[in-house]
Amino acid sequence: MIVNSSGGSSGPRREVVRVGTREVLEEERERARQRVAALEREFAGLAEAASAAGTDDEHDPEGATLAFERQHAAALLAAAREQVAAADAALRRLAAGRYGVCERCGQPIGAGRLTARPAALTCIRCAASGSG
Ligand SMILES: [Zn+2]
Repeated sequence: MIVNSSGGSSGPRREVVRVGTREVLEEERERARQRVAALEREFAGLAEAASAAGTDDEHDPEGATLAFERQHAAALLAAAREQVAAADAALRRLAAGRYGVCERCGQPIGAGRLTARPAALTCIRCAASGSG
C-alpha cells in the first residue's frame, strides 16, 4: 500500500519581512545622528556648567555629580556614534549584497535580530559569545 503524503494545497507561505531595506537603515542612521547631535549639546552644556561652577572638586557634591553626568553623557555619545557607524557599515554591506550575513561566522543573521537591530553586523550567537 502506498501512502502518498506529498502534495496538497497548503504550500509554505512566504512571510514578507521588512528587513534589510535601504529605507530602514537610513532611518536608523538618521535617528542615531539626531541622538549624537542631542548628546553633543547635552555634553557641551554639562562642560559649561562644570566650568561655570568653577569646580571639578571631588569634595564638592555638585562637582562630583557633574563629573558623573559628563561621564554618563560621554558613554551615551560614544554608543550613539557607534550606531551611526554601524548603520553606515550596514548600508555599505547592503550595497555590496552582503547585508544580513554575520561578519564573524558568515552565517545569516536572524530576521528577528535584524528587525530589532537593523544595523547588526553579527548574528545573535556571535554577539552573545564575543565582546565587540
Ligand atoms: Zn555569527
